[in-house]
Amino acid sequence: MDQYRVYGNPIKQSRSPYIHKAFAQSTEQILCYEGELVPNDEFETHVKRFIQMGGNGANVTMPFKEQALALCDQLSERATLAGAVNTLSFKNGQILGDNTDGVGLVRDLINQQVGLKNKKILIIGAGGAVKGVILPLLEQRPHSIHIANRTVSKAQNLCEQFNAKSLSASSFTDIKKQEYDLIINATSASLTGEIPALPVDIITPKTACYDMVYGNTLTPFLRWAQQQGAAKVIDGLGMLVEQAAESFYIWRHVMPETQSVLQALRIKLNHEK
Ligand code: NDP
Repeated sequence: MDQYRVYGNPIKQSRSPYIHKAFAQSTEQILCYEGELVPNDEFETHVKRFIQMGGNGANVTMPFKEQALALCDQLSERATLAGAVNTLSFKNGQILGDNTDGVGLVRDLINQQVGLKNKKILIIGAGGAVKGVILPLLEQRPHSIHIANRTVSKAQNLCEQFNAKSLSASSFTDIKKQEYDLIINATSASLTGEIPALPVDIITPKTACYDMVYGNTLTPFLRWAQQQGAAKVIDGLGMLVEQAAESFYIWRHVMPETQSVLQALRIKLNHEK
């Protein structure tokens, strides 16, 4: 049977085995997909051992996405630009790396009927996830993307790297004052119950707010956005399912249906309250 893994540390919280098993069932693909906890200095050993055992591919989550990039013989353009790999394929003795996070976010936004063309977007955060989503967002031809980060130099570096006229960067306090159509929280602040120190006047009744983090209740950022009168609040569960669907497609050349899996996962998450 074809074998897949997701590598991370921690890994217990990962929803990827659930999602990929559901995709396999709905597309009638016979495969095995398991989570594997990897000690921080043993990523390469685990991947190479899996390849020797006949493994076909793997997902990679925190903190191994950069290490995965370094291990690849070939990289997709989106993995190169993201500087991180979340999808590995093992073929003919070669390790191929891709990054599906960005396309996952864009597809989820489209599914949630959040327009991107000619829209003013604010991204909070400038870590690995942001690197991966800038190109797919730019491809949707937004009016502008402003990146604000606690460490402003990281946001500025991203602007220089992607070198697009529609990109700008600042600290939180210097966020460009304008009416944003979409604000994406791509910080890990929600994981520790924190809200980035943002000005309150960036949210208008037209603003959709998205948090890449998800949970069984609204994240602190989304709760705050709702209190400020945001038009819509959306968490990152759909992004997770969509990035998984793209990985599945890379491996199996079949695009699974995602909305029923997203609904089932949401129900499962709510039962865990
Ligand atoms: P990184 O560690 O690379 O970056 C973290 C970012 O969060 C940095 O910009 C950091 O700012 C900022 N940050 C952390 N704590 C705070 C705080 N208290 N206040 C303000 N800013 C803060 O992480 P990633 O970019 O890889 O991931 C970001 C989040 O997105 C994670 O929570 C991850 O779980 C989620 N994610 C979700 C996905 C999904 O499918 N739903 C896919 C990928 C990621 P600074 O630079 O100043 O340190």
